Formats: sequence, structure tokens, C-alpha cells
Amino acid sequence: MGLYDKFARLAEERVQFQTSGLNPFGTCIDEIYSATEGRIGNQKIILAGTNNYLGLTFNAQAIADGQAALAAQGTGTTGSRMANGSYGSHLTLEQELSVFFDRPTAIVFSTGYTANLGIISTLADPSAVALIDADCHSSIYDGCALGGAQIIRFRHNDAQDLERRMVRLGERARGAIIIVEGIYSMLGDVAPLVEIVDIKRRLGGYLLVDEAHSFGVMGAKGRGLAEELGVEQDVDIVLGTFSKSLASIGGFAVGAEAMEVLRYRSRPYIFTASPSPSCIATVRSSLRIIAQHPELREKLWSNAHRLYQGLAKLGYELGPRISPVVPVMIGSKEGGLSLWRDLIAKGVYVNLVLPPAAPVDITLLRCSVNAAHSEEQIDAIIQAFAGLKN
Ligand code: PMP
Repeated sequence: MGLYDKFARLAEERVQFQTSGLNPFGTCIDEIYSATEGRIGNQKIILAGTNNYLGLTFNAQAIADGQAALAAQGTGTTGSRMANGSYGSHLTLEQELSVFFDRPTAIVFSTGYTANLGIISTLADPSAVALIDADCHSSIYDGCALGGAQIIRFRHNDAQDLERRMVRLGERARGAIIIVEGIYSMLGDVAPLVEIVDIKRRLGGYLLVDEAHSFGVMGAKGRGLAEELGVEQDVDIVLGTFSKSLASIGGFAVGAEAMEVLRYRSRPYIFTASPSPSCIATVRSSLRIIAQHPELREKLWSNAHRLYQGLAKLGYELGPRISPVVPVMIGSKEGGLSLWRDLIAKGVYVNLVLPPAAPVDITLLRCSVNAAHSEEQIDAIIQAFAGLKN
């Protein structure tokens, strides 16, 4: 048997995608002009399928700070923080995150994926039980799998199902690790954190919330869903990424002072290179911008309302709530693919999501808005969808 034989079906599917037109899973955006515009082939496009929620990828100050760090500290750290040492800016950023969240400890990781892997795999060891929302990101599943914990999935956003499963655990529920997300990346819905916190208060357990898509987007200060719902005190660890609102790359965890010890056990923290100085500098810039410019969040939500309402008026079936992530539900995989290609031909780039990446058996076009989109651009996205409605 050949090394790649077991991937024969996948390879066939890939060829099909490539030969029938533009490949949605290998799209090259040939040029990026701004946080909202780019070019694919000869087609100028509006970017409506990113995680750049506050539109900060082209912020002049963040670029200047990134460039200065690149010039002053070089292109990369070339090693892990444990083996090769942290740079001062890694530690400064950790301090700034800890102040931003008003929590004693922050740990910076190389990506959001490794932040989840690093924290979860270390806590969720073979003696632990992890209760995770069925729609949680792969990094959360992978963290539990790497740690070797018993994994119990509860139905997406179903607090009653979580409670039933906690009750079944009996005394073990007291030490269980519950993991949910703030905004879910595909449907744009949010975790029922108030109900979950109530369960935790009654039955015990520890709560980890991945605010990857809600950081910078929700809460008076932009700290995420837990802040918005007033339950931050009940969240033991907040996990997040630098690759969305913070417009860079890297990840973080914030929590109690005792969390510090995880650095010395967490394989995904120890055995990978630390973020480059320019990445850290741009994150620090973006964090300041988020703190100083709440109006960016207002603009983001105003754009989210505009897109959601515009597409709803056209009769498209959308996600359950207005959110910067606006999923358009499509009947079939083929229908989704052809709509995705037609949208590009009309100058709009969104994300095609097929099962299993999409929640159970749905094909969807994931649209997302950001604070840098103008109303005209939002209307152009709606217009493109209008032209494809039959
Ligand atoms: N958590 C969630 C909920 C995510 O959606 C993602 C990435 N899409 C990550 C973690 C991983 O973040 P990163 O891209 O920084 O690795």
C-alpha cells in the first residue's frame, strides 16, 4: 500500500474542485489592497470572509510599530521561550494583557491554536474530564485529545444537556473542565454563558472560554462575551488569539496567578518558537487601539446589522442572530460551490464551508464584516447576493 493511498478519495475530490473552476479551499488572493479589498485573478474583490473584525490589519500605527520592531529586534526569535529565552516585548505584552483583562496572569503563545492546545492539554490530563460544546473549534478537541482527558460533548449551546451530563458525573463534576466559545465562528451565535455559570455555581467545575471571535467585538471594553454578560468572575481562564481582532498572529490565555505553573508543563508552549518581535509589536498596538477606540466596535456592529438585515430581506436563510459572522445557509454542496464562485465573479469574497467544518450537514457561505467596511461596500455585498437570488 502506498503512503498516500488512504487519501485517494480526498485527492479525487480535490481534483474535482480544481478542474470545475476556482478552488474554494486553495484560493489565492493575488493582491491585498486594504482590510476590505483585494484581487483574485483579474477580479477586484471586497473581502467579506476574514476574521479581521476591527479592520486593523492596515492600521498605520500598528504597521509602523511592527516595522520598527522588525528593524530593531530582527525578523524572528528562532527559538522557544523556555529554551532560548523570552524577549522583553513578550513579557510586556503579557503584562498589558493582564491589565486589559484585570487578571493576575497572562501567557502568550505562538498561535491561538497552540494557546488552546497548550492550556487545555496540560489541564485535561488522563485524570480529568472535559465537557465541551459540540461545535467547539478543533484546537479545543485536539487539546483534550493530546492531554488524554475523558471527553464529553454536550449539544451545541444546550445548557440543559450540559447540566444532565454534569449530574451524571456525580462527584466528578466538581473537578470537571467545561469549555465553550464566545462567538462561534461558523454560525455567529454565542454561548449561553449565564446559564452555564449558574450550572457551574451549583454543580462545580471549572470554566474555560475561548473568546477568539468575541475578543474586541463584545463587551464594553472589548474583553468578549463574558464581559458583555457580566460573568467574568466565573470564568477561570479566557483563551484567545491574536489572529482576528488583534490583526496579527499568536495566542493567549489569561487567568489566576496559579496558571503560571502551566508554562513549565505545557508542551505546545515549551516546544515551539515564540512569536516574532514584529508580531508582538503589532498586537501591542492593536490592543491599545481596542482600548482607546470603542467606536470601532460600534461601526462593526452597525455593519453587521446592515448586512444581516439586507440579506434577510432578500430571503436568504441566515444564522440565528445578528453578528459580525453572517452565515448564509445553502441547500447543497454543489449549490454552495456555484454560489461561492458566482459571488467572486461579482466581486465578493466569502468563505465556503462544507460539513464537517460546518455544523451538522449544512453547507454555508460564511460572510463576515469588519469595522473598516464602508456602508457602500456592505451594500455591494448585498447587491451581489441579490443578483444571484433565483
Ligand atoms: N479558537 C477558535 C474558536 C478559532 O476559530 C480559531 C481559529 N480560527 C482558533 C482558536 C485558532 O486561532 P489561530 O488562528 O490563532 O491559531
